[in-house]
Amino acid sequence: MQSTSDAKLSVLVVGSINMDLVLRTSRMPHPGESLIGETYHQIPGGKGANQAVAAARLGAAVTLSGKVGKDANGMRLRDQLEAQGISTGCVVADEKSQTGLAVITLDAAGQNSIIVFPGANMDILEDELRPAFSAGHYDAVLLQLEIPQEIVIACCTLARAAGIPVVLDAGPAQSFPLERVRGIEILTPNETETLALTGLQVGTLDEAARAASVLLARAAARAVVVKLGEKGALLRTAEGATEHFPAHSVEAVDTTAAGDAFTAAMTIRYLQSGDLREAIAYGNLVGALTVTRLGAQPSLPNAVEVEAFRTRVRATRGAPV
Ligand code: ADP
Repeated sequence: MQSTSDAKLSVLVVGSINMDLVLRTSRMPHPGESLIGETYHQIPGGKGANQAVAAARLGAAVTLSGKVGKDANGMRLRDQLEAQGISTGCVVADEKSQTGLAVITLDAAGQNSIIVFPGANMDILEDELRPAFSAGHYDAVLLQLEIPQEIVIACCTLARAAGIPVVLDAGPAQSFPLERVRGIEILTPNETETLALTGLQVGTLDEAARAASVLLARAAARAVVVKLGEKGALLRTAEGATEHFPAHSVEAVDTTAAGDAFTAAMTIRYLQSGDLREAIAYGNLVGALTVTRLGAQPSLPNAVEVEAFRTRVRATRGAPV
C-alpha cells in the first residue's frame, strides 16, 4: 500500500475519544476509605484520539470519526484535536450521550488502577460513521476495539468496498470475531490482546509466533504484528515469514499510549515506504519515546523528535536503525 504522490498521507481513524482524569496519590484507597490526593490532571486520551494525534504529529493528514457528548469535556477534546490539525468534522457531538471518561489513580509505586466510562464511544451508530468514508480519499483506515464491535466490522466492510487498506489495533483486550473482518492489511495486538483473541499465552517469541499464525489465518490478514512491550514486536506475514524486532532500551516512566503510538507510527511509515519491516522499526522508535513521557497524548512524539532519537540510538549502537 505504498503512497506514490508527494502529497501528505491521508488517514481515517475511527475510534474512541476520552478524557483521562489522572489522580496521583501515595497509595490506593481501601474500600470505603477517603484519601487525600496529591495532584490531578485532565489529559486527552482514548485509543482512537491517541492514534489520530500520533499520526498527525508524524506528518499525516488525519480525519477522526467518533462520538463525544455535547458536554464540556466533549467540546474541549474536539477543540484540542482540531488545534492539532486533525479534521473533526466527522466527530459527532450528541446531547444524549456523555463523553467517555477514564479515571486513573496512580500511586507512589507507579501502580495504577483505572475505571473507564465508555459513554458516547459505545453509542456510535453506523449511519454516523458512514459520512467519514465519503468525506475524503484515504490511504488507510485505522481502527481499534474501544467502540462497538459492529461498528468496527462495518468500517472494515466500507473500507473493503472503497479499496482502502485497514490496520486493526486489537486493543483493549477482548474476544472479537476476526472472521468477519477477513482481508484486513495488518492486525496488531499486544500480548494481553493476543491472549484474549486466541486463548494462547504469549510468554516467549515462539509462543508469540504461534499465536500470530492463528490470528493471521482467522483474519486472512497480510500481516500480524504482535506488540511485546519492552521486548519490541514480532512480525508474522501471510508468506510465512517471522521476524522479531527488539525494543530500544529506555527508562520507562509511563507506558500509557505506547501501543497507540506504535500502531500509528507503523502505519504511517508503511504507507510511506511500503516496507513493513522498516515500518515496525519506526514503530519501535516511537513506542520507546512514548514510554519515556507521562500521559497519553502529551507523550506522543513528533517526526523531528523521532529522528533525533534515531540519531541518538545510532550513535550509541554504531549500527543503522
Ligand atoms: P500496549 O501499550 O498496547 O500494551 P506495548 O506495551 O507492547 O503495547 O508497547 C507498544 C510498543 O512500545 C512496543 O512494541 C515497543 O516498541 C514500545 N515499548 C513499550 N514498552 C517499552 C519499554 N519498556 N521499552 C522500550 N520500548 C517499549
